[in-house]
Amino acid sequence: MAKKITIKESIKGKSLFAAQEIAKGEIIFAFERHFTGTRTKTSMQIGENLHQESTDPDSAENFINHSCGPNAFVEFSDLTLRALQTILPDEEITLNYCTTEWVSAAPFQCKCGSKNCIGYFSGFSFLSKEQQKKLEPLVSPFIKKKLAKN
Ligand SMILES: [Zn+2]
Repeated sequence: MAKKITIKESIKGKSLFAAQEIAKGEIIFAFERHFTGTRTKTSMQIGENLHQESTDPDSAENFINHSCGPNAFVEFSDLTLRALQTILPDEEITLNYCTTEWVSAAPFQCKCGSKNCIGYFSGFSFLSKEQQKKLEPLVSPFIKKKLAKN
Protein backbone atom coordinates (compact mmCIF):
# COMPACT_ATOMS: atom_id res chain seq x y z
CA MET A 1 0.00 0.00 0.00
CA ALA A 2 1.30 3.45 -0.90
CA LYS A 3 2.10 5.83 1.91
CA LYS A 4 -0.90 7.95 2.77
CA ILE A 5 0.80 10.80 4.60
CA THR A 6 4.11 12.61 4.77
CA ILE A 7 5.69 15.16 7.09
CA LYS A 8 7.21 18.15 5.32
CA GLU A 9 8.71 21.50 6.26
CA SER A 10 6.36 24.40 5.56
CA ILE A 11 6.27 28.03 6.70
CA LYS A 12 4.57 26.68 9.85
CA GLY A 13 7.44 24.25 10.52
CA LYS A 14 7.08 20.48 10.19
CA SER A 15 3.54 19.82 8.98
CA LEU A 16 1.39 16.91 7.88
CA PHE A 17 0.55 16.50 4.18
CA ALA A 18 -1.33 13.95 2.09
CA ALA A 19 0.99 11.77 0.02
CA GLN A 20 -1.91 10.51 -2.07
CA GLU A 21 -5.61 11.25 -2.47
CA ILE A 22 -7.54 10.45 0.70
CA ALA A 23 -11.28 9.82 0.38
CA LYS A 24 -13.88 11.50 2.59
CA GLY A 25 -14.33 9.46 5.78
CA GLU A 26 -11.13 7.47 5.24
CA ILE A 27 -8.86 6.80 8.24
CA ILE A 28 -5.67 8.86 7.92
CA PHE A 29 -4.03 7.32 10.98
CA ALA A 30 -4.84 5.93 14.40
CA PHE A 31 -3.65 7.83 17.47
CA GLU A 32 -1.25 5.91 19.70
CA ARG A 33 -3.61 5.60 22.70
CA HIS A 34 -1.03 6.71 25.22
CA PHE A 35 -2.83 8.75 27.87
CA THR A 36 -1.24 11.14 30.34
CA GLY A 37 -2.41 13.73 32.84
CA THR A 38 -0.31 16.45 31.24
CA ARG A 39 -1.61 19.00 28.75
CA THR A 40 1.05 20.04 26.21
CA LYS A 41 1.35 21.81 22.87
CA THR A 42 0.97 18.47 21.07
CA SER A 43 -1.44 16.62 23.38
CA MET A 44 -5.11 16.00 22.62
CA GLN A 45 -7.69 16.23 25.38
CA ILE A 46 -9.72 13.10 26.10
CA GLY A 47 -11.02 13.80 29.60
CA GLU A 48 -10.82 16.32 32.45
CA ASN A 49 -7.23 15.33 33.31
CA LEU A 50 -6.60 12.91 30.47
CA HIS A 51 -4.65 13.72 27.33
CA GLN A 52 -3.49 11.63 24.38
CA GLU A 53 0.24 12.17 23.78
CA SER A 54 2.39 10.05 21.49
CA THR A 55 5.54 8.55 23.00
CA ASP A 56 7.22 9.01 19.59
CA PRO A 57 8.35 12.61 18.94
CA ASP A 58 8.33 11.87 15.18
CA SER A 59 4.74 10.59 15.18
CA ALA A 60 2.42 12.17 12.59
CA GLU A 61 -0.01 13.14 15.35
CA ASN A 62 2.47 15.77 16.57
CA PHE A 63 2.46 17.63 13.25
CA ILE A 64 -1.22 18.24 12.44
CA ASN A 65 -1.73 21.98 12.30
CA HIS A 66 -4.91 23.73 13.33
CA SER A 67 -7.35 25.25 10.85
CA CYS A 68 -10.74 26.84 11.51
CA GLY A 69 -11.77 25.26 8.18
CA PRO A 70 -10.09 21.85 8.52
CA ASN A 71 -10.12 18.87 6.13
CA ALA A 72 -9.81 16.22 8.86
CA PHE A 73 -11.46 15.39 12.18
CA VAL A 74 -10.95 13.04 15.11
CA GLU A 75 -13.28 10.04 15.33
CA PHE A 76 -13.28 9.55 19.09
CA SER A 77 -14.99 6.14 19.09
CA ASP A 78 -11.79 4.53 17.76
CA LEU A 79 -9.38 7.46 18.20
CA THR A 80 -8.50 7.88 14.54
CA LEU A 81 -7.93 10.93 12.37
CA ARG A 82 -10.29 10.85 9.39
CA ALA A 83 -10.86 12.90 6.26
CA LEU A 84 -13.73 15.37 6.53
CA GLN A 85 -13.65 15.74 2.74
CA THR A 86 -11.56 14.47 -0.16
CA ILE A 87 -7.93 15.45 0.49
CA LEU A 88 -5.71 15.78 -2.57
CA PRO A 89 -2.05 14.75 -2.84
CA ASP A 90 0.26 17.45 -1.37
CA GLU A 91 -2.62 19.13 0.42
CA GLU A 92 -1.90 19.94 4.06
CA ILE A 93 -3.97 17.91 6.54
CA THR A 94 -5.52 20.09 9.23
CA LEU A 95 -7.69 19.66 12.28
CA ASN A 96 -9.78 22.18 14.21
CA TYR A 97 -8.15 22.10 17.66
CA CYS A 98 -11.34 23.57 19.13
CA THR A 99 -12.97 20.16 18.62
CA THR A 100 -10.51 18.57 21.08
CA GLU A 101 -9.18 21.26 23.45
CA TRP A 102 -11.50 22.72 26.11
CA VAL A 103 -8.69 25.03 27.27
CA SER A 104 -5.51 25.01 25.21
CA ALA A 105 -2.02 24.67 26.71
CA ALA A 106 -0.65 26.69 23.81
CA PRO A 107 -2.96 29.50 22.58
CA PHE A 108 -1.99 31.34 19.38
CA GLN A 109 -3.14 33.90 16.85
CA CYS A 110 -4.70 31.86 14.04
CA LYS A 111 -3.73 32.77 10.51
CA CYS A 112 -5.48 29.86 8.78
CA GLY A 113 -7.16 32.15 6.25
CA SER A 114 -10.49 30.30 6.53
CA LYS A 115 -13.55 32.51 6.09
CA ASN A 116 -14.77 31.30 9.50
CA CYS A 117 -11.43 31.95 11.22
CA ILE A 118 -11.91 32.58 14.95
CA GLY A 119 -8.79 34.77 15.19
CA TYR A 120 -7.26 33.95 18.54
CA PHE A 121 -7.29 30.23 19.40
CA SER A 122 -7.36 29.36 23.09
CA GLY A 123 -9.77 26.43 23.28
CA PHE A 124 -13.43 25.49 22.84
CA SER A 125 -14.54 27.03 26.13
CA PHE A 126 -13.57 30.53 24.87
CA LEU A 127 -15.70 30.37 21.70
CA SER A 128 -19.00 32.23 21.45
CA LYS A 129 -22.19 30.17 21.96
CA GLU A 130 -22.82 30.43 18.21
CA GLN A 131 -19.33 29.17 17.31
CA GLN A 132 -19.70 26.33 19.81
CA LYS A 133 -23.07 25.30 18.34
CA LYS A 134 -21.57 25.10 14.84
CA LEU A 135 -18.73 22.83 15.98
CA GLU A 136 -20.83 20.56 18.18
CA PRO A 137 -21.12 17.62 15.71
CA LEU A 138 -17.32 17.21 15.62
CA VAL A 139 -16.33 17.82 19.23
CA SER A 140 -15.00 15.18 21.63
CA PRO A 141 -17.30 13.29 24.01
CA PHE A 142 -15.51 15.16 26.81
CA ILE A 143 -16.49 18.57 25.37
CA LYS A 144 -20.05 17.32 24.72
CA LYS A 145 -20.29 16.38 28.39
CA LYS A 146 -18.99 19.81 29.42
CA LEU A 147 -21.58 21.48 27.14
CA ALA A 148 -24.44 19.44 28.59
CA LYS A 149 -23.58 20.80 32.04
CA ASN A 150 -23.84 24.44 30.90
ZN1 LIG B 1 -8.31 30.24 11.88
